[in-house]
Amino acid sequence: MKPSLVVLGGGLSGLAAAIRCARYFPDVVILEQHIRPGGLNSWYYRNGRLFETGLHAITNFAAADDKKAPLNRLLRQLGIARDRLRLHPQIGSEIRFPGGRVLPFSNDFAELTENIGKVFPKSRPAFLALTDWLRGFDPFAAAPFRSARAFLRQSLPDALLADMLRCPLSFYGSSVENDMDLSQFAIMFRAIFLEGFCRPAGTIKDILDLLLERYQELGGAIRYRAKVAAIVHEGGQVRAARLETGEEIECRFLLSTIGHAETLAILGKEIPKEAPRLGFVENIFSLPRASLPADRTIIFFNNGETFRYGVPKNAVDFSSGVLCMPGNFHGLSAASPEMAEPSWLRATHLANYEKWREIANDQAQYQATKQTMAAASLAEAEKILGISLANSVCEDSFTPLTVARFTGKRHGAIYGAPDKIKDGDLGFANLFLAGTDQGFLGIVGSMLSGVSMVNRHILPKL
Ligand SMILES: Cc1cc2nc3c(=O)[nH]c(=O)nc-3n(C[C@H](O)[C@H](O)[C@H](O)COP(=O)(O)OP(=O)(O)OC[C@H]3O[C@@H](n4cnc5c(N)ncnc54)[C@H](O)[C@@H]3O)c2cc1C
Repeated sequence: MKPSLVVLGGGLSGLAAAIRCARYFPDVVILEQHIRPGGLNSWYYRNGRLFETGLHAITNFAAADDKKAPLNRLLRQLGIARDRLRLHPQIGSEIRFPGGRVLPFSNDFAELTENIGKVFPKSRPAFLALTDWLRGFDPFAAAPFRSARAFLRQSLPDALLADMLRCPLSFYGSSVENDMDLSQFAIMFRAIFLEGFCRPAGTIKDILDLLLERYQELGGAIRYRAKVAAIVHEGGQVRAARLETGEEIECRFLLSTIGHAETLAILGKEIPKEAPRLGFVENIFSLPRASLPADRTIIFFNNGETFRYGVPKNAVDFSSGVLCMPGNFHGLSAASPEMAEPSWLRATHLANYEKWREIANDQAQYQATKQTMAAASLAEAEKILGISLANSVCEDSFTPLTVARFTGKRHGAIYGAPDKIKDGDLGFANLFLAGTDQGFLGIVGSMLSGVSMVNRHILPKL
């Protein structure tokens, strides 16, 4: 019997899509190339200790009784009780720019408004008007690209405020260099400023285990080390996914979450010459809990004269980035021994894939460059935090090459291509796209993408 749905990729969008479909049609199969699920947000063991590959924070925090909030809607669609996630809200985050410009914000939106009033008094009324406008704006309506950067410059008297607002939203969800699509800006504004950050107790492994448990109790199947090498199709209809081994898995519907160009490649179609370019490095430091500030969860910083969110000339651009202290969520260290001691600092910066690729064949040089990069990143973190981090240990660093190697993402671009296929339509009767290149980014975004593509294209036709 042909499965109702085959999902390419066991990342968060693939898992969410598969659960959603399996609630009605249990004969769903996920094909995942790696040895475990999670994709960009996964985990590995080193010297007996679990390391997360991503997970700074989950966006879109909302109170449990806010029925319309994206997070609660997502959990309802998956049939997962919210208390299974044991969510802990952030302590507080900030945006830090030169000249002592600092905008602290939390899950209480009034805090950001108040701080904007203090730092940019001239812009406060315009910011409130912008917020009202964004609350009424439908970011999911089909629309051509509209520059959020230009829109903000028009809307706010202080250009610096416009850049400061773009900084966290870009780092956590823009695939466009030095700009953002206005719809994506509106989604991220809500996800980060209006709703805010939280973190489940435990690690990403607990979230993935929960999703897998739900999927398997519904009857769904997942196969690991199952790299799809080709999609077999004829006359606009997909017949099967062909694995590297030559095995063919027939299906009624196929949903790909591996990326747009990556899907075109295995369809045997021409792929866009321009590869997505935005890559990142991340360094994971461990250190005694008492060494880190306890009152900040995430710091988004820029030290440059203007905020540049683009591919750097060098391998890494240390002038901006994200410092995340994933143990700093209310009540988290008591609920999660993994986050208590030692504590963690994750430092993320923009990176240039090509520069890293140039040295990839010389392992000694690649490793040495990673070490130098981690040291420079730590020095930057010391400046931003205003403390010595001499007692920290760099546990691991990843580059755009690491992301490309483990997830198959072209150029290791975690947010995929700038042009999104918002309707998920790839021009086939039974093949659709979900995940990063469909348009929603981040953990909640990618899961919503999987669910919404199944609701829109697959469930009504099965
Ligand atoms: C370091 C880092 C930190 C992050 N931190 C956060 C955070 O704190 N909060 C947040 O909201 N978001 C964060 N993100 C972003 C978030 O992880 C992603 O947006 C989300 O996980 C994307 O999920 P996806 O399913 O669309 O894609 P992916 O995770 O890329 O899933 C695609 C899957 O397809 C598989 N695959 C690829 N090719 C094939 C093939 N040919 N055959 C079979 N399988 C294939 C891959 O192995 C992968 O498992 C972070 C990302 C990174 C890299």
